[in-house]
Amino acid sequence: MYNLDEFMAELERKNPAQPEFIQAAKEVIESIIDVVNDNPAYLKAKILERITEPDRVFSFKVEWEDDNGEVQVNRGYRVQFNNAIGPYKGGLRFHPSVTLGTLKFLGFEQMFKNSLTTLPMGGGKGGSDFNPKGRSDAEILRFCRSFMTELQKYIGPETDVPAGDIGVGGREIGFMYGQYKRLKVENTGVLTGKGINWGGSLVRPEATGYGTMYFADEMVKANKDTMKGKTIAVSGFGNVAWGACIKGTELGAKVVAISGPDGYVYDEKGISTKEKWDYMLQLRASNKDIVAPYAEKFGAKFFPGKKPWELKVDMAFPCAFQNELNLADAKALIANGVKYVVETSNMGCTADAVTEFINKKIPFAPGKAANAGGVATSGLEMSQNAMKYSWSAEEVDAKLKTIMINIHSSCVQEGKDSGYINYVKGANIAGFKKVADAMLDLGY
Ligand code: GLU
Repeated sequence: MYNLDEFMAELERKNPAQPEFIQAAKEVIESIIDVVNDNPAYLKAKILERITEPDRVFSFKVEWEDDNGEVQVNRGYRVQFNNAIGPYKGGLRFHPSVTLGTLKFLGFEQMFKNSLTTLPMGGGKGGSDFNPKGRSDAEILRFCRSFMTELQKYIGPETDVPAGDIGVGGREIGFMYGQYKRLKVENTGVLTGKGINWGGSLVRPEATGYGTMYFADEMVKANKDTMKGKTIAVSGFGNVAWGACIKGTELGAKVVAISGPDGYVYDEKGISTKEKWDYMLQLRASNKDIVAPYAEKFGAKFFPGKKPWELKVDMAFPCAFQNELNLADAKALIANGVKYVVETSNMGCTADAVTEFINKKIPFAPGKAANAGGVATSGLEMSQNAMKYSWSAEEVDAKLKTIMINIHSSCVQEGKDSGYINYVKGANIAGFKKVADAMLDLGY
């Protein structure tokens, strides 16, 4: 029998100075420990020890030259966490905060998220402490080339299929895919999030944002409620926030806030026109990492250094970064009458903020369920690549929507708790069972 405190103490001992990994592991293990303790096969297989240890971890040096001719050195990683149900799959993050511990937390989460999509994808994650902020296109190109020169040794379309994450969008995937092709002389689905002219899937750029809104729509319906007329605060202004603004508007809600590291923008009229959505893409492409110019351009209000969780809104969608919404933010949202919280960033809320939402019976979706539309559509991109075929936007979108509806049902099935749906528990148990059962089938 497992004891939560004892297991976590041992995990911390084995993984010192990796607080994000420990946080992510604790959240999952808390949810699944009873399921494991009730199943002699899981106990005999030492399933918790095996599922918390990555299959393998690569760390490599990335050398490149900046525009001033100065040599730069970054560290690159790929964490291949678990491939019980399919090739390792998960994004690459380029951000100065990236450490091995960050990528272990993300790879661990990815394993359960990918399982929830119902597609055959294992969990992995990678990236670098490279900071794209202020870098020219030429510098980004040189960095991506050098990064892929190392990474290509460890990946392959049937082995490990990276994609984007924070700091890695279509441009970076293009530069990395170009280098992969140069070195391997093959056109394969080794990366997802590719451009539409060179093997990408329609709707992949929008997929995470669309998916979280499809999931939210299901949550709202489960409460006999509607998205129509709901006010929404979104954090972030990148690809995920962009897709969320578009689909939220289409579903009849009004997104009134987006944010950046510099503060948040409150747009009373709603971030609801193509011009505004296109401008968000321009802001991201500028590599300046600031959202303030949106307020100036569209006559909205800018709140420097603040987070949008102080606003009175019906729904909150953290779409930016891990632990971006803390206990004080949760209390402020609840005091202002928030009705639903849909975590869309990976582990976007601190553990005590999640507990607060659950204790106050606020429907709360964890990132691994709500943001799974991105990787699910990556899975659809892999299917299209394997078939040498491409589906229409309508076909991809319909499949994405069905996947999100099914993820919601799985969460409800495993997370129903006397009238309240505990989506955290539901997502963790549903995601875990499939991976664990596959591991038992495969032996060790
Ligand atoms: N980075 C995204 C995630 O966190 C997408 C991963 C992918 O498409 O492989 O799920």
